[in-house]
Amino acid sequence: MRIAVLAGGVGGAKFLLGVKRYLGRPAFGPAPADEHLITAIVNTADDIRLHNLQICPDLDSCMYTLSGVSDRQRGWGRADETWTVSGELAGYDAEAPWFSLGDRDIATHLVRTRMLDAGYRLSDVTDALCRRWQPGLTLLPMTDDRVETHVVVEDPAAAPDADRPAGTPGPLVALHFQEWWIRYQAKLPALSISPIGAEESTPAPGVLDAIAEADLVLIAPSNPVVSVGPILAVPGIADALRATAAPVVGVSPIIGAAPVRGHADKCLEAVGVPVSAQGVGRHYGARSDGGVLDAFLIAPDDRATVPGVTVAGQPLLMTDPEHTAEMVAACVQVVGRG
Ligand code: GDP
Ligand code: CA
Repeated sequence: MRIAVLAGGVGGAKFLLGVKRYLGRPAFGPAPADEHLITAIVNTADDIRLHNLQICPDLDSCMYTLSGVSDRQRGWGRADETWTVSGELAGYDAEAPWFSLGDRDIATHLVRTRMLDAGYRLSDVTDALCRRWQPGLTLLPMTDDRVETHVVVEDPAAAPDADRPAGTPGPLVALHFQEWWIRYQAKLPALSISPIGAEESTPAPGVLDAIAEADLVLIAPSNPVVSVGPILAVPGIADALRATAAPVVGVSPIIGAAPVRGHADKCLEAVGVPVSAQGVGRHYGARSDGGVLDAFLIAPDDRATVPGVTVAGQPLLMTDPEHTAEMVAACVQVVGRG
């Protein structure tokens, strides 16, 4: 079976563990040579260059988690991490002290940056890094081009202006997604969230083929706005989802009226989407109607009607890879491929 999965970082990685288990593979580490092929198409719009290092948080969350070397409590970065370099950088008051970089993790960024600077594409670099880590599936960046999510907010550093009438916005500033998310914990109301550069980007090698040749396409319960949104914004990817012979099934990251973790609610509010499974389902929309879905999984206590989309209830907490594999089985079942 060939499965293509659109994925962000931590939520995407957890979901991919379940996809591996569904196909009978070990959740962590390399896959045996068999007839199955899993391709993860991963968001790169969170990527940021700090201290001259190119950092790809979602690709790395997937790579480390799937190979079994991630910190499972923290949810990101390496297990047994140390923070000496970050501490020293803070001593210099260097840029972005709000972004922690573990010592082990820095080695990945050093190798990646050196290869990128030597002219390799991000997809080549990812492949090279995965040769060490053996995630047990193919990890592809959504694009090799630079795409960065920017969030427009009222400038938190702007001096107060006594002459400004109450209720009128102050000067605006576009923050890198990471600054908004980590430094400001998504607490600054977002006036807009956009994947800058997406319009001019092209899908990375292998992305369109993986979708076209899949037996099943899954949209992980990743952040719909800043993880899945940028992937769908790369020209050609949403069209490939609409054109593939494979069914496309999404999984809700929203249970009840809240994300399971993180600030997806703030992202959905910023783009005018209700914070509910139905809101997300309608945001993705039916493949038959210009959207991307044939079916959508929601939590058992939730209700959703999404015109043109088969909605099914299923426990959606990814507590361990076995439970998550049951979610994947439900995705297969809802489109009658089980
Ligand atoms: P990030 O890039 O690291 O932020 O991770 P993703 O975008 O891939 O995933 C973040 C989303 O995963 C959040 O919106 C969460 O609501 C969702 N999520 C995390 N854990 C679970 C879970 O156990 N079940 C479901 N359904 N969603 C989850
Ligand atoms: Ca992310």
